[in-house]
Amino acid sequence: MRPDPMAGAVLNGLSVDVEDWFQVGAFEHVIDRGDWGSLPSRVEANTDAVLSLFAESGAKGTFFTLGWVAHRFPALIRRIADAGHEVASHGWDHRRVFTFTPAEFRADLAQARAALEDASGQAVTGYRAPSFSIDARNPWAHAELAEAGYRYSSSVAPVRHDHYGWREAPRYAFRPLADAGLVEVPVTVAEIAGRRLATGGGFFRMLPSAITDFAVRQVNAEGQPAMFYFHPWEIDPGQPRVADAPLRSKLRHYSRLGAMAGKLRGLVARHAWGRVDAIVAQSEAA
Ligand SMILES: [Zn+2]
Repeated sequence: MRPDPMAGAVLNGLSVDVEDWFQVGAFEHVIDRGDWGSLPSRVEANTDAVLSLFAESGAKGTFFTLGWVAHRFPALIRRIADAGHEVASHGWDHRRVFTFTPAEFRADLAQARAALEDASGQAVTGYRAPSFSIDARNPWAHAELAEAGYRYSSSVAPVRHDHYGWREAPRYAFRPLADAGLVEVPVTVAEIAGRRLATGGGFFRMLPSAITDFAVRQVNAEGQPAMFYFHPWEIDPGQPRVADAPLRSKLRHYSRLGAMAGKLRGLVARHAWGRVDAIVAQSEAA
């Protein structure tokens, strides 16, 4: 038997935020939610391509999926689950949590979870806020997640960014509530000379892979798992272009899409990855 180079390594969180090219936060002011149903959907084909890419190395991950997507493409959700991945929630239609009242958030969570559980046949116990929209503004959100029975959230970006971020949050998994076991697993940021640097999603796509490799090794050296994320539309250079979006959003969204699949394949091969529920279990056992 060939020795496994990953044996004994810290398992890192591999996560995919499943949403279509027209559902991203950067375009929400130029594409009306009411038009989503009439736009050419590419999420099913792109997510199938992600499943194939993961299958090459046998890596398992968590697919934080919009309820809207699960409702329209239940067979896709079933394929994700059947391949051994975790199906988790990304909310119903990508509204950011700090725009909700607690009651509206509760309703959004319930609607999304019903669609995801119906389609997957799995219990949904994980949640990722759209655009990492749990921060110092909405401390009630974690309490709502615990109340709804979620085991973990991965909704915090502990970094300063123009659209999101909670710079003061811990970099590693923490329990945000004194009276509940809910675990928050922030996405990984590298720490270089006291500065925090985002590493997933568009940052991974636009910057050299070596930066993300450095971040994964840095947190693993501290005995912690990394938490990586990306989107299925990021491996799709053929997606329609949104002409009237702000220039900065377009520069970010369309940059280096063609190189993404190859970079991902390398990253997945170089580190040990797992589902986020497994990462949470690993941190609870430590
Ligand atoms: Zn998203």
